[in-house]
Amino acid sequence: MKLILLGAPGAGKGTQAEILGRKLGIPTISTGNILRTAVKNGTEVGKRAKAFMDAGKLVPDEVILDILEERLAQSDCAQGYILDGVPRTIAQAEALEARGIVFDHVISLEISDEEIVKRMDGRRVCSHCGTPFHVESKPPKVDGVCDACGSALMEREDDKPETVRHRLEVYHQETEPLKEFYARRGKLASVPGNLGTIEDTTRAIEQVLGA
Ligand code: AMP
Repeated sequence: MKLILLGAPGAGKGTQAEILGRKLGIPTISTGNILRTAVKNGTEVGKRAKAFMDAGKLVPDEVILDILEERLAQSDCAQGYILDGVPRTIAQAEALEARGIVFDHVISLEISDEEIVKRMDGRRVCSHCGTPFHVESKPPKVDGVCDACGSALMEREDDKPETVRHRLEVYHQETEPLKEFYARRGKLASVPGNLGTIEDTTRAIEQVLGA
C-alpha cells in the first residue's frame, strides 16, 4: 500500500499518518520530520533547509528528492509507506512518477484556513521522534512528554501565526494543484479534516482505503 496524505499544514496529516501506519504496518515518511532532525543535528541538509523552514517557505525540490530517495531505499519501505507532507510541488510529484512509483490512494484532508490558524496555536511535537500532539484534541498522557518515546514536547518555530499564514499561502499556491494532478490520474479522494474526533477522520480515510 502506497499512500499520500495531502492537506494544508495542520490539517492532521501527521496524526492520521501515525495511526494509519500503525494499523497498516507500514512506515510514515514525513520530510518535515526528517528535515527537523537534520536541523537539530546540524547536518549539511539541515543547514541548507533551516532558513526556508523558519520562514515557512518550501525547501528546494532537489533537497527533498535526495532525502526521499535515500529514505525510500530503506528496507522497511518494501511493503509500502505513507507519505506525509511530500510531494508538495508538481515537480516533486512528477519526479516520483518518473521513478515509476504508483500510489494506491491520495487522500486530501480538507479544512478551512481559519480553523488551521486556530489549531496551530495548540500544536506540540516531540523534539525527538516528531510525534504530533495538541493541547486540546490530542494531549499527551504526561504534560509536555511524548507518549511514544518519553522525550520533551516542543512548539514548532514555524507555528507562529504570521508564519502559519505564509505557509497557508504557499500551500494554496504550490501544493493544492497536486489535487488536480492526482484527480486526473483517478487517485484523489477528499476527506473532511474536521469531522469531529481524530478517530472519525481515521474512519473516513479507512472507508476510502476499503480497510
Ligand atoms: P511539515 O512538517 O510537513 O509541515 O514541514 C515543515 C517545513 O519543512 C515546511 O514548511 C517546509 O519548509 C519543509 N518541507 C517539508 N516537506 C517539504 C517538501 N516536500 N517540500 C518542500 N519543503 C518541505
